[in-house]
Amino acid sequence: MSSKVTLLFLLLHLAWVLMFSRGFFPVKTRVPGQGTFSDLPSAPYSTSSGAAAPSGRDPLGYIPPYDQVVFVLVDALRSDFVYGEGSGFHSVRQYLSQGYGEAFVAVARAPTVTLPRLKALVSGTVPAFLDAILNVLEDDDDEKKAGKGNNEQGDGKDAWPSILHLSKNWKIEMYGDDTWMRLLPPHTFTRVEGTTSFFVADTVEVDRNVTRHVPSALNRKGEWDALILHYLGLDHIGHSGGRHSPLMQPKQEEMDAVIDRLFRGLSPPENHPIEGSSPQGPLIILCGDHGMTDAGNHGGSSEAESSTSMLFLHPAWRRPEAKKNEDRFHWSLQNSWSPRNIRQVDLVPTLSLLLGAPIPRNNLGTLIPSTISSLPGKMYNGQGKEKGEASCLWHQGRQFHALFLEAHGIPEGEQRELSEMAANALESKAMEYRVDRMVLALVLGILLWLLLSRKSLPSSQIPHMSMSVLIAAILALQVASVFASSFVEEEHQTWYFWLQSYWMYLLVRPRPGMRRAGLVGQMVLLRLIRTWNQTGQKWAHLPDIRQFLTRPEHEALLWILVLSTLIIMLLRAYRVWGSLGHGRVCFFPRLWLVVTRAATLSILLIQLDPPNLTHSLVARVPYKASTAWCTSDLLFLLLFKPHQLPLIAFFHAQRHLLPSSVGLVSEESILFLFLAHSSFFALGGSNSIASVDLSTAYTGLSSFSAPMVALLTFLSNWSGPLWWALAWIPRRPGFVERRLQDRMILRIMVGLHLALALAVLVLREHLFIWTVFSPKWLYTMAWLAYFLVMYLIWWVRDVWVDKMGAGIEDVD
Ligand SMILES: [Zn+2]
Repeated sequence: MSSKVTLLFLLLHLAWVLMFSRGFFPVKTRVPGQGTFSDLPSAPYSTSSGAAAPSGRDPLGYIPPYDQVVFVLVDALRSDFVYGEGSGFHSVRQYLSQGYGEAFVAVARAPTVTLPRLKALVSGTVPAFLDAILNVLEDDDDEKKAGKGNNEQGDGKDAWPSILHLSKNWKIEMYGDDTWMRLLPPHTFTRVEGTTSFFVADTVEVDRNVTRHVPSALNRKGEWDALILHYLGLDHIGHSGGRHSPLMQPKQEEMDAVIDRLFRGLSPPENHPIEGSSPQGPLIILCGDHGMTDAGNHGGSSEAESSTSMLFLHPAWRRPEAKKNEDRFHWSLQNSWSPRNIRQVDLVPTLSLLLGAPIPRNNLGTLIPSTISSLPGKMYNGQGKEKGEASCLWHQGRQFHALFLEAHGIPEGEQRELSEMAANALESKAMEYRVDRMVLALVLGILLWLLLSRKSLPSSQIPHMSMSVLIAAILALQVASVFASSFVEEEHQTWYFWLQSYWMYLLVRPRPGMRRAGLVGQMVLLRLIRTWNQTGQKWAHLPDIRQFLTRPEHEALLWILVLSTLIIMLLRAYRVWGSLGHGRVCFFPRLWLVVTRAATLSILLIQLDPPNLTHSLVARVPYKASTAWCTSDLLFLLLFKPHQLPLIAFFHAQRHLLPSSVGLVSEESILFLFLAHSSFFALGGSNSIASVDLSTAYTGLSSFSAPMVALLTFLSNWSGPLWWALAWIPRRPGFVERRLQDRMILRIMVGLHLALALAVLVLREHLFIWTVFSPKWLYTMAWLAYFLVMYLIWWVRDVWVDKMGAGIEDVD
């Protein structure tokens, strides 16, 4: 099979995987249009479903308690940042203790990344998984296709800011993350200035650019009705330094000062709040969109990522009953504190009611009871248009409503239970898979795999019986493991285990010329590598070398390790590039040559200026795989965090200690897969979205460019496997065997992806489908991209070697 045929198979593989993904990531069903007052039941004019309420007016004659709102979103504001011990939010906690507000822990759904959380916070919806991850904004394409008409309106219009603007003609100002501007229709805001969330390293300017608008907004406080501030600095601190970064506490204090300033600015003159049972005046909301893990990442569904702070502060009104409790609260200010849990989407109907606006039609949140004191408000309800269970609940809700109007009240618990049931029923209905597409794609995948397996290996390539059994057992177990969510979460364990078992096997049954010391060395190395970064879910919190090295007191050790790695890289580059036929050149000129080439090449690679790059490669560096491999070291040098660098030295050691040839194609292929996968997990990778490391995604970029950020993210997160793809080149066998090897790797890969696809199809109603299997499928697609790159690198080199003949053997 020529590489062209393999390429064709690879593309076919890509095709069915994409087709399966289209079926698996559901299209969200949403009610078209936007919430209006006419959505409300027709009461109190009539308890039957008769005449509609006059449009544009609140039919309940309800007077909303608040007439102005400041919505402060602090990105990644985990619940304990406000409520936990050592919080920097001193004045916020003070105000709460004095009865000026109420606090909740708002639980966000996975994926805990900004865009879907923001959608949840403005429209109360559950966004589709894929569009959330890819930050794709929804338009109503599907609705347009279905010809339902009446819909230039996407999610953006069915959100509380747009509804306030349209139904109550509110003037809204927004400063902060420009996602808001992409999410909501442009005319929603009377004044707006966006900041970009893409420079993760900036933790200062990004927030200054928001805060500088606060004084002027307070001076003009009669000119706006809603003020939205979205701060990104705290999230950026998390991404670059984790939860325990020294910048974290000062940032919390900075955010606290902003709230304090807003609170004082909006307090009534002479600071005399009204004490009474019903709230009034302006409302300040402080909330986070998602939390973060202690390492500072987010995306998954762990408690740390999904618990966010949500506070309602009202400077003009003081809850009277809090007064007598003040001392007790004061005492608790020093300690951690655990407010009641609500769902994040519950903000949407609650806020709509507090401001007297219609609730977004697609909202799935329910009312937070304690925030509303006057009863008529409690009887609002979102309008369900689903059939079946949800529809029943909706009608039941209407009956309760009628009952309430006749008898003045139904028990609050019952009403709450009902709306929660309705919300859950709607939520599960909101997503639907296209099973037909998934099945068709799976069938195509199986056909492809059968085609690939058509030719059996030549007899000279069939390994020893015991080895065949070992390989078959490993593959069978790997296939079986994708059906168990815990195994998917802890996938690294299996790869480490297989690789270690393989070395063990060779130790027990050594081949001629194979050194036992080398095998023992491999086992020790793997043990060290796997302890470098704890990953997965269950044991990710256990101490690891990364944590040890990043402690301030171990800085010297980290430096020694990093410098040793640099020396190893340099020696390696020196050996390879120094041997490129310059004869007997003195040491220092040669070293100089190596360093300048390395620097030029890595800068070029970072800038990725293709014409320059090709020119430089053609002019200066002979085409040798080992050259590319050394250059990749230098690229990774720029893309790695310091504590990860020593792993490159370990990879070199692993590579150096590899038995010169383990023999047959199948064994070589599987060894390559072991090494590539274990290196991915060793660098901290996992199957959770939270472990995608964004900290180096902006290296060398002076302005944001989505393709470059995606490329750099891919390069840094898959750097381990990419390193092995390059390091494997000198090991590639002769012409015939390497074709067999390429096909073998492809076969194993297609087999594993098929198994996962089947698991996803079978387990699509499983509890963990969104938190475990969907991320795993996204990772699988990224791995597919990796394999495409790997084959391309290998084939480019093959073509070159075949052209030039044996003259350019690589330095190993
Ligand atoms: Zn965020």
